[in-house]
Amino acid sequence: MRRTRVYACRPLLGRALALLEEHCEVRVWPDPEVPPPREVLQREVQEAEGLVTLVTERVDAALLEAAPRLRVVSNVAVGYDNVDVAAATRRGVVVTNTPDVLTETTADLAWALLLAASRRVAEADRFTRGGRWRSWGLELMLGQDVYGRTLGVVGLGRIGRAVARRAVGFGMRVLYTSRRRHEDAEQDLGVQWRELDELLAEADFVTLHTPLTPETRHLIDRARLRRMKPTAILVNTCRGAVVDEAALAEALREGWIWAAGLDVFEQEPLPPDSPLLSLQNVVLAPHIGSASFATRARMSEMAAENCVAVLTGRRPPNPVNPEVLERPR
Ligand code: NAP
Repeated sequence: MRRTRVYACRPLLGRALALLEEHCEVRVWPDPEVPPPREVLQREVQEAEGLVTLVTERVDAALLEAAPRLRVVSNVAVGYDNVDVAAATRRGVVVTNTPDVLTETTADLAWALLLAASRRVAEADRFTRGGRWRSWGLELMLGQDVYGRTLGVVGLGRIGRAVARRAVGFGMRVLYTSRRRHEDAEQDLGVQWRELDELLAEADFVTLHTPLTPETRHLIDRARLRRMKPTAILVNTCRGAVVDEAALAEALREGWIWAAGLDVFEQEPLPPDSPLLSLQNVVLAPHIGSASFATRARMSEMAAENCVAVLTGRRPPNPVNPEVLERPR
């Protein structure tokens, strides 16, 4: 008898493959660094009941159209802006994600970028390796203090809260904005609500933690960058398109803001002609927010668990479009 088939768009970590293979025939794109080309994906989905994707895979209506057997798209990420969820829902395909397990790891990276940008760590590394260090200098590599300053969190969800919690150790005042007020967090974390424009004007550090949606695309645009302090630092570990990147490059070049730390970009990988590459006051990371050994293994396993649950007729732990599960098959 034909076994249920799953296509995994990358070799998975931890026990993920073993979990899938207990129930399914699994085909795996073998290259850990490069995603499967579109034509490979299009061919593989023709026979697959399950698809394990990363943020690099665009699961749009055309791909879903080419996948008559598909029952689940299991994204190895908490964000799922790479998947056309409405189209999947119309076709009765369950979409799942991997929330929570990556929260603390991603919050750590937001702080790594915040500290690196404010104290010029990456630039100092280039300077030291480049043989330009001639003497201890009173004015050498001056940066911005973090302790006791004001942090602004945009999007007070799981990761936004985890970033805010870490600010206690830095004696910071924490402002936040979200679509609605979170009075529990105001009580528990001591964070203070602000409208976005007020937060941008008041914060020394602005850290972005919204999903990418039609409402958040270019949320931080030219006008909003203009509202920030000239000493301010912007940290983006959510999705590149939440910021107007061309405007950000101009803001960094012209000194509207002081520095930025970025893990995500409008186009990934960052194109070689990106203006960001020639700026010293931006720290760049290649979308590694959740990239710790333990977290990436856990994300892989969670994606496998979600996939197997749907394919064995159980409710997956992390459905993004649970309404599909309520429908009679
Ligand atoms: P989450 O718990 O859903 O938090 C997102 C928060 O943003 C929620 O509080 C949400 O709702 C708020 N929000 C949504 N739309 C908004 C808007 N228009 N304006 C202001 N706030 C808005 O998600 P999470 O687990 O923290 O993850 C957040 C995002 O981080 C993911 O969607 C993903 O794109 C990104 N991420 C990136 C990496 C990486 O590798 N760099 C790793 C993990 C996650 P309320 O407005 O109701 O508060």
